[in-house]
Amino acid sequence: MVGEPKYSELDKLSGEIARCGRCGFCQSVCPVYQVTAHEEGVARGRNMFAKELIEGHVAISVKNEGFFKECLLCRACVEICFSAVKTDEIVLAGRRASNRIRGVSSLHRYVLNYLLTDHGRLGRAIRLASFGRTAGAVRLAQALDIFGWYGGKFRRADEFLGQMPRRFLRERLKKRRRSAIGTTAKATLREAFFFIGCGTNFMFPEVGESTINFLQKIGYEVTILANSCCGLPAHAHGAADTVERLAEANIRLLSESEGPIVTDCSSCASFMKRYPEILSAGGAGGSLIERAQAMSGRVRDVTEILSASSLAPTMEPAGEALRVTFHDPCHLSRHQKLSQAAREALRLLPGIEFIEMKEADWCCGGAGAFSVEYPDLSLQILERKVRNIEESGARIVATTCPACMMQLQSGLRQSGAAARRLVQVKHLVELARD
Ligand code: SF4
Ligand code: SF4
Repeated sequence: MVGEPKYSELDKLSGEIARCGRCGFCQSVCPVYQVTAHEEGVARGRNMFAKELIEGHVAISVKNEGFFKECLLCRACVEICFSAVKTDEIVLAGRRASNRIRGVSSLHRYVLNYLLTDHGRLGRAIRLASFGRTAGAVRLAQALDIFGWYGGKFRRADEFLGQMPRRFLRERLKKRRRSAIGTTAKATLREAFFFIGCGTNFMFPEVGESTINFLQKIGYEVTILANSCCGLPAHAHGAADTVERLAEANIRLLSESEGPIVTDCSSCASFMKRYPEILSAGGAGGSLIERAQAMSGRVRDVTEILSASSLAPTMEPAGEALRVTFHDPCHLSRHQKLSQAAREALRLLPGIEFIEMKEADWCCGGAGAFSVEYPDLSLQILERKVRNIEESGARIVATTCPACMMQLQSGLRQSGAAARRLVQVKHLVELARD
């Protein structure tokens, strides 16, 4: 009797893997390969490794896990590939196989299964970590080298924690009179449901407030959702069970309502639009898929609303002309195909001079947890982006993903441009408000 293949997750994609013709065209666009020049860091190498695993020539181990882990999932390789080989999907299948065979660390298990599935718990954990930082516990631990084993990873996480606001968006919104937390009442003609992504909630509450103000200004009644994380971080980690739990919770919350579900995080928007496909691939049943389809069809990246030309006259003049460039998050450009929509939105804003930077859609190296997991590589990828921003001569770099905002701010701080007030990072929706 023939048993289940050892790498069953990859085996299901063997047809896709076989379509890679090893031409190497993907080398020129892969941000990881451009820094490392290692075959392990490019689509061709990853696909060949997957083939070797399926055929039993190698086994997955700590020595070769980089083939799957050191990938930004940016899809630049998919876009340039003549065969459009879905290397990002192959990498994700490899991560799922690795988790099943080699297991995951207790820290990852705790974050994915316990914190990510409850935004209240996640908020308390982040607040606690931040408190430890400001109370000096972290500096003491560093001095004693308690975190020495974690090296650059810890320093990068600490840097991001240092930028955390005093109050999260959900805390700020409790004070707003007209916001109905968690309401899923029947929508009126102009009702919009605001999905708060983790990045907006914990790092950029002012972006969330700008989104609400903008939606109200153009005539929407805004209902604030008590939503869960969209599940993208768990998906990128290969934690399919957690993804299903989070997606189900969000689908349950929203399936009784009607009207657009708006988010200012392009990563959340692109991922929720893919719920039906992702849940189907995980083997979910019919009624959940139907509800996922109904829900995902209502998801709107705020960029889509900003770019609707009929909305332009409601915007107020932005004051003195600002030189603005735009960084395309991978989840806006390659996953949602909304690059042009973002540029249309910028061109509609009065008082803004839009400047296209070189390689605007080159990944910034953030890619969620990648920036913490691979701090040195992430910063090397970021250098190229920062150089292009500075060379554009813009005073503001706008974007639409909080994770990109964190990464860009970090790069501009390190280059000194932020300190010299040369370039600021803003979400696109903040420019509409100003
Ligand atoms: S992934 Fe596509 S571009 Fe890269 S080597 Fe394979 S066939 Fe060529
Ligand atoms: S998804 Fe991005 S980082 Fe990963 S192999 Fe393709 S181009 Fe390289």
